[in-house]
Amino acid sequence: MSAPTSENRRDELAGRLAAVRERLDAAARAAGRDPSDVALLTVTKFFPASDAVLLHELGCERFGESREQEASAKIAEFRESVTAPVEWHMIGRVQRNKARAVARWAHTVHSVDSLRLVQAFEKGVRAALDAGERTAPLRALLQVSLDGDRERGGVVAEDLPALAEAVAASEVLELGGLMGVPPLGWEPERAFELLHGMHARLLQDHPAAVELSAGMSGDLEHAVRWGSTCVRVGTAVLGYRPLA
Ligand SMILES: *Cc1c(COP(=O)(O)O)cnc(C)c1O
Repeated sequence: MSAPTSENRRDELAGRLAAVRERLDAAARAAGRDPSDVALLTVTKFFPASDAVLLHELGCERFGESREQEASAKIAEFRESVTAPVEWHMIGRVQRNKARAVARWAHTVHSVDSLRLVQAFEKGVRAALDAGERTAPLRALLQVSLDGDRERGGVVAEDLPALAEAVAASEVLELGGLMGVPPLGWEPERAFELLHGMHARLLQDHPAAVELSAGMSGDLEHAVRWGSTCVRVGTAVLGYRPLA
């Protein structure tokens, strides 16, 4: 077997990307929604910068990463090949001491789930703005806990209003909406219906917080049915990740 060339990899990514776009279009149509209302965030974690470059050539403009150090290194390498502006989104858990570093590169963070993390991002984004490392506020999505288990990350429903207020009150953060992941063992329909209800309640107080980040490779159809505006897709586009 010959080593994979970038031509082979490009063909492979192009085929998988087309299949995912077809799934998204079909899911939107089935839900009576406009396919252009559901954005595709390609999750490049564990894959090299060269894959992000190929995906950018294939039309992807938003990329998701889950670990700060991996993302920083990958983005630096990506920028050696691509000068056009693209969005990098932080979708993984963020430790407070990493907020400053994430503020250097992230357009959006999907995983804000505590007041302490909001404070860390406030400081980090202000410092990044002062240093000229970014020019815009950081868009923050609140990651919610659907099963109320505080250990596994995500804000529980009763703490959501105060967290939303804290982000909305910040001059350097922008409240974008919600993010959710179905708890292990849950039917995706049940999880996304619950998430949709939480988002509807948030929108009553924060009508601009329209983003609903929901759905991954295995469950995006269910998420689109329940109002997802951003699906985070890794495996279905890039293939199976090497085990961590
Ligand atoms: C890795 C990851 C994804 C992508 O999952 P796939 O099943 O590979 O599509 C989506 N969301 C989050 C929060 C992730 O960490």
